[in-house]
Amino acid sequence: MSTPYTTNNAGIAVESDEHSLTVSPDGPILLQDHYLIEKMAQFNRERVPERVVHAKGAGAYGVFEVTNDVSQFTKASLFQPGRRTEMLARFSTVAGEQGSPDTWRDPRGFALKFYTDVGNYDLVGNNTPIFFVRDTIKFQDFIRSQKRRPDNGLRDNDMQWDFWTLSPESAHMVTWLMGDRGVPKTYRHMNGYGSHTYMWINGAGTRHWVKYHFKTDQGIDFLTQAEADELAGCDPDVHRRDLWQAIDSGNAPSWTLYVQVMPFEDAADYRFNPFDLTKVWPHGDYPLIEVGRMTLNRNPEDYFIHIEQAAFEPANMIPGVGPSPDKMLLGRLFSYPDTHRYRIGPNYAQLPPNRPHVPVNSYAKDGPMRYEPSNTARPYAPNSYGGPAASPEAHQDIAGWRTAGEMVREAYTLHREDDDFGQPGTMVRQVLDDDARTRLVSNVSGHLKQGVTKPVLDRALQYWRNIDKKLGDRIAAEVNGL
Ligand code: NDP
Repeated sequence: MSTPYTTNNAGIAVESDEHSLTVSPDGPILLQDHYLIEKMAQFNRERVPERVVHAKGAGAYGVFEVTNDVSQFTKASLFQPGRRTEMLARFSTVAGEQGSPDTWRDPRGFALKFYTDVGNYDLVGNNTPIFFVRDTIKFQDFIRSQKRRPDNGLRDNDMQWDFWTLSPESAHMVTWLMGDRGVPKTYRHMNGYGSHTYMWINGAGTRHWVKYHFKTDQGIDFLTQAEADELAGCDPDVHRRDLWQAIDSGNAPSWTLYVQVMPFEDAADYRFNPFDLTKVWPHGDYPLIEVGRMTLNRNPEDYFIHIEQAAFEPANMIPGVGPSPDKMLLGRLFSYPDTHRYRIGPNYAQLPPNRPHVPVNSYAKDGPMRYEPSNTARPYAPNSYGGPAASPEAHQDIAGWRTAGEMVREAYTLHREDDDFGQPGTMVRQVLDDDARTRLVSNVSGHLKQGVTKPVLDRALQYWRNIDKKLGDRIAAEVNGL
C-alpha cells in the first residue's frame, strides 16, 4: 500500500512536511504559507481547559450485563433481566493536575455512562462510599484546601488539616483516605460506589432508596505509602498504562454491581440520616443485592476524543431512577453540566463519548461547534410541521418526594446515631486489622509531620482521638517522636 499524502485540514495535499515557505532558502517566512499557519494555530488550540477536579484519568468502553432480577425495585430499562448495555467508564484522581502521578494518596473518581435504549444514564461516583463534606456549599472550599496555595503555588498539608479539623464531618472520609484504600494498586483493584443515595421506582410506582456498590472482580489491592512514593517518581502514569495494557491484552477487568435497598418510609426513622454523604448504611441493616456485571473491554481509539472530552453528569437519570435529598447530589446535578459547557462548549453532548445511542429530538439549537442538525422541523414547540411532542408517559415527577417548610440554612435533621466520629471509629476498631491500623498510624503521622503547624496539629491529634482514643494516642506518639 502506498503511503497517503499529508493534507491540510481541507484535504488538500501539502508540498512539504519539513520546510516552511520562504523567500530564498535563508529568507523570511511568508504569511501565505497557509499550511504552516494552520499547523501553528491548531497546535496553540490543542488543549481544552483541564477539569478543575479529576483532571488526571483513564478510561475505556465496555458493557453492563444484568445477572439478577431487581425489577421489583426499579423499572429502569438498564437493570431489567437479561439486558446488556454499552457503557463508558472513566477513573481518575481528584486533586492532581493532568500530569500528576497516578499514585498520590487521593480518592479515585469512578464515572460511568450507560448508553441505554431510553437515553444516557450517568452514575458519577468515587471509589469511596462516603465523602468529606455533606453540603454542596462547602465543596469548593474543600477542593481549594487540597489544591495549591495562592502565594507559593504549592500543595500544603497544613491547609488540608486546617480544613479537615474545622470540618469534623470529614472524619469518616479522612480515615478511609489515610487507610490502605487511599492508594489503590491499580484502577482495576478498587471498588466503585455511587456514594450518594438515589431513588429507584418500580413499574407500580413504588419508591425505594438505593446505594450502588461496584465490587472489583480483580480483588481489592493497594500500594503502601513507600511503594506509591516510588512509583510517583519512576512511573507516574502507572494506573493509566495498567488499564490500557490489561484491556489491550484481552484481560478485560470487571466489577459486580450490588445495591443496598431501603424502603422509602424507612428513611424518616433510620438510625443514621440516610441522605448524609458522610455516612454509610451498615450492611447488617441493608444487605447487598446483586444486580449485574460491568466489563471494560475496549480501549478508546483516541484518548483526547473519548476520555478527555467525556462529559459525565449525575443529572442524566432515566425513568426508574431519581435523586434523593442528599445535598451534595442536588448540587452536582447543576455543577456537572455547567462545567462541561465551560470546558468543552455547550454542544458537548454531540461528541462521540457523550452522544446517546438513541435519537435526540431536543429543541436545543446552534452554539459553538454544533454539527448535528436539529430534528425538530421548526425550532419551537409545539409546531404543526411534524416536530417532536413531549411524551406524558415519560414523566419523572414521581421520582421525587413531598416536602414543605420554611426556607432555612441549616444542617440535616439529626437521626438517633448521627455524629461525625462514630462510623470512622467503627471502621478503625471493627473493620481494620492490626497491620492495617499500624499502616494507618504511619500514613497519618507521616502526613502530619510535613509542614503542619502547631495549632492545626493539636486539632488534628484531637480529631484522631475523637475517632478512636487509642489510635489518636499512637499517632500523637509517632508525631512527637516518642
Ligand atoms: P461490614 O463489616 O459489613 O463492612 C465493612 C466494609 O468495610 C466492607 O464493605 C469492606 O469492603 C470495607 N473495608 C474493608 N477494609 C477497608 C479499608 N481498609 N478501608 C475502607 N473500607 C474497608 O460493616 P458495616 O457495613 O457495618 O460498616 C462498618 C464500617 O465499614 C463503616 O462504618 C464504614 O466505615 C466501613 N464501610 C462500610 C461500607 C458500607 O457500605 N456499609 C462500605 C465500605 C466501608 P468490601 O467488603 O467492599 O471489600
